Amino acid sequence: MHDRPVLRNFIDGAFTDATGGGTTPVLDPATGETIAHAQRSGAEDVDRAVAAAAAAFGRWADTTPAERARALLRLADAVEEHGEELAELESANAGKPLATVKADEIGAMADTLRFFAGAARCLEGKSAGEYVAGYTSIIRREPVGVAGQIAPWNYPMMMAVWKIGPALAAGCTTVLKPAPTTPVTTVRLAEIAADVLPPGVFNVVLGGDEAGAAIVEHPGVDLVSLTGSVGTGKWVAEHAARTLKRVHLELGGKAPVVVFGDADLEHALDTIAGAGYYNAGQDCTAATRVIAAGAVYDKVVAGLAERAGRLVTGDTRSRATTLGPLNSARQRERVAGLVGRRPGHAEVVTGGRAASRPGFFYEPTVVAGLRQDDELVQEEIFGPVITVQRFGDEEEAIALANGTPYGLASSVWTRDVGRALRLSKALRFGCVWVNDHVPLASEMPHGGYKQSGYGKDLSSYAVEDYTHVKHVMANLR
Ligand code: NAD
Repeated sequence: MHDRPVLRNFIDGAFTDATGGGTTPVLDPATGETIAHAQRSGAEDVDRAVAAAAAAFGRWADTTPAERARALLRLADAVEEHGEELAELESANAGKPLATVKADEIGAMADTLRFFAGAARCLEGKSAGEYVAGYTSIIRREPVGVAGQIAPWNYPMMMAVWKIGPALAAGCTTVLKPAPTTPVTTVRLAEIAADVLPPGVFNVVLGGDEAGAAIVEHPGVDLVSLTGSVGTGKWVAEHAARTLKRVHLELGGKAPVVVFGDADLEHALDTIAGAGYYNAGQDCTAATRVIAAGAVYDKVVAGLAERAGRLVTGDTRSRATTLGPLNSARQRERVAGLVGRRPGHAEVVTGGRAASRPGFFYEPTVVAGLRQDDELVQEEIFGPVITVQRFGDEEEAIALANGTPYGLASSVWTRDVGRALRLSKALRFGCVWVNDHVPLASEMPHGGYKQSGYGKDLSSYAVEDYTHVKHVMANLR
């Protein structure tokens, strides 16, 4: 018998035992202790969830936008009402400082749901009209169907909301799979949502890659949406192709942070350290690849190292803690491996090792002196490690910034408006921040170029991704 809660699938409005066999321990990354056990799902469980979502689809798709909006608004209220509880669960399961989840995630999730409630009522299409004499053409936007949604572990609850918001707004029903290490808040969210959504509209299937693969390959899933690594994204695209389902991929990032000599350096360094070490660097937009002008390079390296030294690791329930652990022992090994394999010309200015305390903490780290083809520059680290490179002129800065396979987010730091706008055009990323890094708006899209994927989260573009455009052409005779 387990002495901790056993998490089960949530299908068709009720908790349901998974048939995959056995459970996976769910840990608090800040202590390494088991806080729950999650049942493992197999293809049969995915089948059951897809059947529930398919059965619910017709009625949900037939609701008016106003009805779907009302449900999303009530869900936003419920998230706020349960905010304390959800924040505590998320903090314990994802190893995030509790105060940070409360301040940054609960309100943001409610806002996202409220935005999608509004967006449900504002779908767009081209004008109806007689494009061929004697015929009226009409554009309809219709929900794609059953969405299979696969989430990562870095913001488990927020990524669940980013996924279900546009899907439900469009009239799709969903089968969502959280990451195996962070299922706690997702099942609780589904339980809370059952008060405002009809059964089968939002289903949660627990499990790891196998359950995810069953979603990708299921012929009853019309669209698969993944937030995860590039490698998983390629697997998903390849296997979804076999049933030609629509694919929505929010993958890794390696955000360049281009600091020119004329930048407001104190503001830049405070923001870069804040956005680089936020969530222990486990953020697809993390400000962790700094490219600094030669004139300020030394100041940037020293300023980041000094700010890294001010971070406080420790009990995630304490308000004093500003840096949480990595999500798992595996992720910490990955980060340690990348730092450990650094080339001889690289310099670890501060950090560079696991913190000596329980849980999966890693010291905030600055690595300087790197070259463009170094693994630490080319590979997403997803840990509290900021790298710094030096550039000579604007052209070189752009080449270095664009010189990885990723294209999710970037920032440019300068007081020169013309230069800021030139870089906004030249940077091949889904987002360019000017003199800031990381703020998001529910109204604005989030998504990648290149190997960071395709499809948008947030904004009306996300709702459009969950719709088909249909042409109806009527003979007027
Ligand atoms: P991951 O790719 O290992 O796993 C993501 C999810 O995919 C998990 O739920 C996992 O179980 C599932 N999965 C793995 N293999 C699968 C398969 N073959 N078929 C179906 N599902 C499968 O990624 P992760 O380590 O959990 O998350 C970190 C990654 O997510 C990072 O690369 C990060 O940049 C990325 N991320 C991107 C965004 C974004 O908006 N672009 C946001 C957050 C995280």
